Amino acid sequence: MLKLNMSVLFLFAGSVHAMPVQETDAMAFPKDISCNIGSSIGETEGRSLLPDVLARVGSIWQPGDFQFIAQVDGVGSHHLVFNLHHNNIPVEKQELILSIDNNCQLFRYQYRVVDYKPKEDAGNNSKIKSIDEAITSLKTIVANPDEPLTRSIQAQANRLRLLNKADHSQLPASYVADEITGSPLYRISSNKVLILGYQLNLPSRNPDGLLELWWNSQRSSPSALPRFPYAKRSDKQSIPALSPWQWQGYGQHPQRTLGTDYVVNFWEVWPPISQSLSINTADKLQTANLVFLDSLDFSWDFEDRTFAELWNNSDSDADSAAEKKRKLTSILTNVAYADKGIGYAANTLGYGHLLPSKPNLVLSTTASGGSSIYKPAFDIIQIVDNSCNASLYDPGATLHEQGHSVFVRLLGLSRSNPVNTAMNEGFADYWAAGFLRQDPKWNGSLSDFRSGACGKTSADRQLRTQLYDYFDGMEAKISSSHGGITGPEGKVFFEPMLAQPLLAAMEDLIKLHGEEKGRKLADHIVLETFAGLSVDASYRELSLALLVNARRFDPSLKAEAIYRLRLTNSNLLPRQVEPESRVAIATIMPAETSVTLVNHDSANKAERVTVALPNQVEQNIELAASEKRALTLPSPQLTCGEVSSHRLRFVIGKTISWYKIRLIPSH
Ligand SMILES: [Zn+2]
Repeated sequence: MLKLNMSVLFLFAGSVHAMPVQETDAMAFPKDISCNIGSSIGETEGRSLLPDVLARVGSIWQPGDFQFIAQVDGVGSHHLVFNLHHNNIPVEKQELILSIDNNCQLFRYQYRVVDYKPKEDAGNNSKIKSIDEAITSLKTIVANPDEPLTRSIQAQANRLRLLNKADHSQLPASYVADEITGSPLYRISSNKVLILGYQLNLPSRNPDGLLELWWNSQRSSPSALPRFPYAKRSDKQSIPALSPWQWQGYGQHPQRTLGTDYVVNFWEVWPPISQSLSINTADKLQTANLVFLDSLDFSWDFEDRTFAELWNNSDSDADSAAEKKRKLTSILTNVAYADKGIGYAANTLGYGHLLPSKPNLVLSTTASGGSSIYKPAFDIIQIVDNSCNASLYDPGATLHEQGHSVFVRLLGLSRSNPVNTAMNEGFADYWAAGFLRQDPKWNGSLSDFRSGACGKTSADRQLRTQLYDYFDGMEAKISSSHGGITGPEGKVFFEPMLAQPLLAAMEDLIKLHGEEKGRKLADHIVLETFAGLSVDASYRELSLALLVNARRFDPSLKAEAIYRLRLTNSNLLPRQVEPESRVAIATIMPAETSVTLVNHDSANKAERVTVALPNQVEQNIELAASEKRALTLPSPQLTCGEVSSHRLRFVIGKTISWYKIRLIPSH
């Protein structure tokens, strides 16, 4: 990868000086490259920028070496994905993504292209010689029910268990061999050789979807990677007109509504609360806004009756009344939030063009596999009970999975890697929190409802408290999509690490601009950052992109200052001045801590810093560029032998930030 030695100046809002922030090697935010607007913005406009951008990054490649692959339009933004090609065949992951605004001004580019010419494989070992041969061979494989690939879709179908509405028989899962499509694609091997392969699209029915496969020409079968989409799914449905439909259900935690009268099996005791929901058909529990797939546990045999009828009728059947009511409550809660979230993304935020087809929603009480999930290959959100009935009526689950469905639509190509997947989880928590926070009693936990009904759950992530800091090199340690990574200062959970500062910035903007305008501004800044973002972006790049978008959407620079502070507090943005270590030795008598501060600026910028431990007298020092200096700070009272965490308060210019530090007492 080419190293770009460019430094970009970022203005500190509210201060008079400019602060250099470390520029990453692959992503940059130019202000001086633009194109001529054509009838619309697309490949032609992007192509006209290639010579300037390639010169800027010092590329060994020419504009003609790039093929136009995909375009994502955001809100006032256009993201054009170009790939390196060889003999008109794209080379996977060799991307140059250009982001242009409506004035044809380039505001971001992401250059992730090798700086050597890979050799072409002689093809002596290839078992598959052409795309036609790959497609024909795949048809033979899917005709055999014993092939691993054929069994994999059967496994999907078993989890979803789709039922025929008419007779409740289980629908047989199948591949549509006649509709297989594909195209050749190169991959660069570790020894810098171009290996030819084939990207294949395999449509499925029951569940309907598109499995995307990679077939290395040197292997005898394709790899069953359902998450290798190199083409975007085609749009299935247009949005139907909405009309209101009255329904009843529990829109918030029953414990809050019922207070001390709350019992765990509340639906047996208390009548539902009236709410109203927009549904497309007249008085029927059915929506085409979200396409429901029938599951064994939630069959739709009652869709032609009103909720009140269903609720009252279930009382006459004493044995299963509680179960029926629980299912109804689950269905309505999930439908409500699924509609609300997608409606907000499409109509309020302006991403309707990315949502012509809606994610499908499947509710299951007995699905194997435990957690709720979003399956991009089928565009399905499956909500399962996850060992707790309340999981099915906790809107946090639907909203989190819905966040994934929004995230994949923002990407240029839906390929992924572990870091991008971890960012996707953080985004999904942020997306859910934007809705959950509208309940004034929300306690900041993603699975608040589940926790209330069933105690602590695995998804019990706290999104309102700053608990986790990014650390350098974190990306290399991420290997799974959920959970924690052990860093130098203990475990970091990467979902709240990203979601918490984004939510905090949203709440800051809401304080400034009010609920509607503040939230919309925050969501535009965040969603526009992810729109067209390379899946190979790092957290620091993501954070810089957030600042740039904050500036684009709020020229007053107030939003930028908010994001800078929140991201810095979680260490997602580097500080110019910071302690040398997150661990400090403190004496007990007198209560003092020695902290060494470093000014990372290698240019010539001296910095005046005010620093203090909680509720202690502050110290004020000036550090020259590259200077390192120890200072002694008054400490809070410590107990002998007990290590404790504290927030060091930093004031540089007018910006206050915090830095988590552990104090180890010594005699
Ligand atoms: Zn998730």
